[in-house]
Amino acid sequence: MAVTSGPCPNCGGSIEFRAGSSLSLVCKYCKHVVVRTDRDLRNLGRVADVTFGDTALAPGDRGTFRGRSFSIEGRLVLQHPQGGTWEEYYALFDGRNPAWISEAQGYWQVVTAAPVPAPPLAALRPQLPVQLGQGVFVVQEKNEGTFLSGEGELPFAATPGTRRIFVDLSGPQGSWASIDYGDGQSAPQVFVGVQTSFAEFQVQQRGGDRPVAAVKTQSIKCPNCGGDLPVLSPGSERMACKYCNAISDVKLQQVVAQQAQAREGPSIELGRRGVVPVADAKGVYNVEWTVLGYMERSTGSPGSDDWFGWQEYLLYNAQHGYRWLVFDEGNFLLVTPLAAGDVDASRAPVFVNHRNLHFQRRNAQQARVDYVVGEFYWKVAVGESVWAEDYVHGREVVSSERTETEVSWSHSVVIPTAVVTQAFGYQPKASQYGAAVVGGGGGANGLVGLIVVIVVVLVFAGVACGSCGDDGTSSSSSSSSTGGIYTTSGGIRSGSSSGGGFGGK
Ligand SMILES: [Zn+2]
Ligand SMILES: [Zn+2]
Repeated sequence: MAVTSGPCPNCGGSIEFRAGSSLSLVCKYCKHVVVRTDRDLRNLGRVADVTFGDTALAPGDRGTFRGRSFSIEGRLVLQHPQGGTWEEYYALFDGRNPAWISEAQGYWQVVTAAPVPAPPLAALRPQLPVQLGQGVFVVQEKNEGTFLSGEGELPFAATPGTRRIFVDLSGPQGSWASIDYGDGQSAPQVFVGVQTSFAEFQVQQRGGDRPVAAVKTQSIKCPNCGGDLPVLSPGSERMACKYCNAISDVKLQQVVAQQAQAREGPSIELGRRGVVPVADAKGVYNVEWTVLGYMERSTGSPGSDDWFGWQEYLLYNAQHGYRWLVFDEGNFLLVTPLAAGDVDASRAPVFVNHRNLHFQRRNAQQARVDYVVGEFYWKVAVGESVWAEDYVHGREVVSSERTETEVSWSHSVVIPTAVVTQAFGYQPKASQYGAAVVGGGGGANGLVGLIVVIVVVLVFAGVACGSCGDDGTSSSSSSSSTGGIYTTSGGIRSGSSSGGGFGGK
């Protein structure tokens, strides 16, 4: 029988394993990882010092998720190859069933080990459909992380500095899977579960040394100029300073890039809060969003006829995650992330299906980031580019953005400019990015209710594809007076999300 208590082999402090399924723990006195064997306790080395943010979950927390009790036993901090870190939580459900909980881009994943075979790592790439057990999932990200730090108990021998390769996959209707390939040599382990929002976690008891306060506004000093910058979302990874344009890593508080351009400020003030309704399967809600960041993106060669630019504002709500407001050809679009598993792309690049609607491909191009200011939930970099594709059905757009390691899907609908003006105090400024084309633009006046009509129609109209190939008028087209609007942009920006998938065994 394995040792469950004893002195820390490094500092002699008293150590006790609480969960029978735990194999190692981080000594709270000296921060060395201690693994238990049949006979003794062994030291695997010290974890890095990291400052744990005011995160939503922490070891010692107890609560319920979909009617089942859970406790958080341990936390892992992993380093992403493109910089920055992410966290994963080792949890026990009903006091005994191990699970992993992680957060990425405002969504939460809960997975448990599944006894199904994993496909060979080399065969996997973003957007590939994969059969796992009874379900079909789509690869969203293939990447790796390095075990940097942690606390509490973990179900495997967590040696600091160990590299872990993972593949994250989404399925239809909120299903989620992650495959842990270890260092690439060891046997892979498949984890299957769900993707959800934080609203489904009911935390009843907070543990650890963490302050009792809920997520609260904090700020950092710009590591370049010393300016005070608010951090409005706990998931923010990169901050572009509004005073000096330097781009910094939020957790490490280090400058990672400079932007030389002096630009006029965005047309919506960062930090501004406003109400815009959103829809999900259960209905339509008035949600207050905070404007976190602003980007200018473009495609084509600067100065040439094929150059085309647009603006994007990142919105955040703690319960609903992230959305985007895209300003393109004089019109605003509200952009919602989609799971890759909710889009049937088997006939791409000709068309894709989403909610049984048929979306024809409209365009595809490299989309570049030219300028950023404010905060972002991924490792945004100026000059980075992704392969972007748009598919249209009536006034709806389904878009994908792809890199070598990741694919992201999103859904866009037109939102009247009057709604944006009322919600966020939008004040138009002359800019090449998103400028109206001749005869376009304008937007509806006083039509604040229209967005509700649009989203309701979108949610409930998408039953059958009655007229594939008819791009002209479908579900929502009667609602808006902002004609001619299909965008060349949209999508959750990809590049380097912090994914899940670090399972132990
Ligand atoms: Zn110790
Ligand atoms: Zn600065």
